[in-house]
Amino acid sequence: LLERAELAPADPILGLTEAFNNDGRSDKVNLGVGVYLDEGGKVPLMEAVREAEQRIVAEAKPHAYLPIDGLPAFRDEIRKLVFGADAPVLERTATVQAVAGTGALKVGADFLRQLNPSATVLISDPSWENHRALFTRAGFKVDTYRYYDAESRGVDLEGMLADLRGAAEGTIVVLHPCCHNPTGYDLTPEQWDRVVEVVAERGLFAFVDMAYQGFAAGLAEDGALVGKFVQSGLPFIVGTSYSKTFGLYGQRIGSLSVVGASADEARRVLSQLKIVIRTNYSNPPAHGAKIVAGVLADPALRGVWEDELAKMRNRIALLRKDLVKGLEAQGVTDMGFIAEQRGMFSYSGLTTHQMVRLREEFGIYGTDAGRMCVAALNADNVGRVAKAIAAVRS
Ligand code: PMP
Repeated sequence: LLERAELAPADPILGLTEAFNNDGRSDKVNLGVGVYLDEGGKVPLMEAVREAEQRIVAEAKPHAYLPIDGLPAFRDEIRKLVFGADAPVLERTATVQAVAGTGALKVGADFLRQLNPSATVLISDPSWENHRALFTRAGFKVDTYRYYDAESRGVDLEGMLADLRGAAEGTIVVLHPCCHNPTGYDLTPEQWDRVVEVVAERGLFAFVDMAYQGFAAGLAEDGALVGKFVQSGLPFIVGTSYSKTFGLYGQRIGSLSVVGASADEARRVLSQLKIVIRTNYSNPPAHGAKIVAGVLADPALRGVWEDELAKMRNRIALLRKDLVKGLEAQGVTDMGFIAEQRGMFSYSGLTTHQMVRLREEFGIYGTDAGRMCVAALNADNVGRVAKAIAAVRS
């Protein structure tokens, strides 16, 4: 049997990290993977997380199973975070804890596939690499809607709307509400209104993948698309991830909420989500859920977390400016767009050949498509990165 297993290519992004780890150069820089690093080049342990974790350890509770749908306190808290406290929509919303943002996508995909196996899934062109693979593996036909306009360096809104208008009823549309991965270009609130209108008109089904709430403009601003869908009265799904915003990458903590038409529908949906979870991994891990719930439920800790989140957000914006300044100092004056993009990523416009040169000649790792994680820059490496970009462009 096992001789039939073919060697699969390395994951395009995690494969880069492997190559980076094997690179012996001491001045190498990993801008490949989407991780926020502090000035010292480390994944930060957020103060609010540290405190919540200490409280958990001090309680010294045994490691029991969680319910299939996750830690109740976590679900309560993140429902408030995503939809607002006491939001009436919560009555018609089924929420489960998920194994981070990826797990939310997979549970959501498996659930939708049961209901509508022939639906097409539309993802943005380009999108996070795993969107296509994940929905394809779940059994869907995956196609794209226009998103990035290389010429104008921004979102091709008219193209996006036209593609959504051309989609068959019931098509599932994956949307990035903020910090679009990989481009860094987001829609304005008015542009989102138009997208929601088309989703309603055409009877499409939105799957909002919210992996970076708080990394672009603020918690409320970045989550505004969820409010727009709630207002529209449409059924939709929102998946969240706390990998980035709490620095809990390895804890694998996120959520999935399915907003239905009624409380009864939400109850039925929840029962189906539980079957998907039960037959995949039975129930989710506890530690990350306890941390997030502990932070959000304590007003003081929540304040600390929101401040830390704002600091990360502001620092990323500064790093973007520093990179643009560094590039200008090297004579590269046409990359000011990096400072306008949002979130962790910059679509740099560099060609595959230039990205390979960055890697091979300078030990600077980004994806072949030209995506760089600006949240991995720091005062020490930004000048070197700017110099190397200037070199490969000349
Ligand atoms: N969706 C998007 C758009 C992402 O960028 C990411 C992370 N790179 C995820 C989902 C998955 O995140 P997680 O690590 O929480 O599974």
